[in-house]
Amino acid sequence: MFDGRTACLVVVGAQWGDEGKGKLVDVLAEQADLVVRYQGGANAGHTVVIGDTQFILRQIPSGILHPGVTCIVGNGVVLEPETFFGELDQLAQRGISTAGRIWVSDRAHLVLPYHKLLDAASEKSQKLGTTGRGIGPAYEDKYGRRGIRVTDLRRLECARSLLADRVQRANRLLEMMGSPERASFDQHVELLERLAPRILPLAADAGLLVHRAVREGKRVLLEGAQGSLLDVDHGTYPYVTSSNTTAGGAAVGAGIGPTLIQGVLGVVKAYTTRVGNGPLPTEAPSPHGDRLRELGGEFGAVTGRPRRCGWFDATVVRYAARVNGLTGLAVTKLDVLDGFEEIPVCTAYRLDGAACDEMPAEVETLGQVEPKYEVLRGWARPTGGARRLGDLPPEARTYLDRLEELSGVPVRYVSVGTRRDQIIEVKTG
Ligand code: GDP
Repeated sequence: MFDGRTACLVVVGAQWGDEGKGKLVDVLAEQADLVVRYQGGANAGHTVVIGDTQFILRQIPSGILHPGVTCIVGNGVVLEPETFFGELDQLAQRGISTAGRIWVSDRAHLVLPYHKLLDAASEKSQKLGTTGRGIGPAYEDKYGRRGIRVTDLRRLECARSLLADRVQRANRLLEMMGSPERASFDQHVELLERLAPRILPLAADAGLLVHRAVREGKRVLLEGAQGSLLDVDHGTYPYVTSSNTTAGGAAVGAGIGPTLIQGVLGVVKAYTTRVGNGPLPTEAPSPHGDRLRELGGEFGAVTGRPRRCGWFDATVVRYAARVNGLTGLAVTKLDVLDGFEEIPVCTAYRLDGAACDEMPAEVETLGQVEPKYEVLRGWARPTGGARRLGDLPPEARTYLDRLEELSGVPVRYVSVGTRRDQIIEVKTG
């Protein structure tokens, strides 16, 4: 996707997350100079497999696995410092040096232990299926204008007085919510004092770094977490995450103007999954749903929760194409469909007997739609060894052509396995 016209590219999930963005970013990062995470927190678990080693990155952009790439945690991310440094340490243990090539926006907000306590308490009353990592409460504080940002660590006395107020407020809320837990002010102070000397050398005006890189003609990847249907504005509200996962959020969360972005790659699985609660119109009953889960390893990278599995839903991907302005699609996990005799694809919905081609605003309505399926022929030959479209069984190519037609977006990549080399780049023109 990087070419003479595209130097600044967004990679977004075009379904409910877990589409394999980590692998795509890893593949694309080979050609990139800079990789930026623009939203989300430590709830996103990108999985990248190199050789026999599996890396799960929650806070650090997966581009870090390429030695020449600089990585940035953008202002739109909520940073959980302990996970972040845990990841840096793990990378160091595996011989991957990150010195001088990771920066954190000084405008990024911190996720602190009291956010996790609040998350756990509110999940008890409003079951949204959150990962319980404090992301939602940290974004609430950000928009409530009472967040604590990386830059606040530059003046620890100030951070201390902010903390006194925030911890007290959190404890009042916990009491109101009937939680027995309480946050400790002293522990929070100790945490910030311990972390500040590690974070501050990495803190920078990240938007400026990204802006300069684009202006200098460097190749910049803006990496989204979760998926479009989990976007707080465009997703299946309230079963959504607390940030803008869609491409519009990339400009805001990386700290650049939208006119600098030249391409948006939507990552989709060749089928559909979702974790947590909320409607999933194409959810496949057993045995098909179970088979997709087993073959696709559809268990959360962070939580281990089994994902709900179903057939490809073109209504979802058309919608994602529109709200993200997708310029290309990357279809992942095609190999998981190997051996299915028939593969249903949802082309549109019906609601109360009438056609319903657009994504409804209410989850209740989405829960009532009836998917209209077209059944395509499956293929027996394994696809994992394919490196060009021509290596794929004809039925798999027909399947991809149909996904492209139904989505209205050209397929630019096809992933056929977990490994870095198991990728087909579709050459254009
Ligand atoms: P992300 O959050 O979008 O990066 O997605 P995850 O990392 O949670 O989920 C993707 C999972 O699928 C990881 O375990 C990947 O190793 C795996 N994966 C990615 N692409 C492929 C593929 O083409 N085939 C198979 N079988 N697995 C894949």
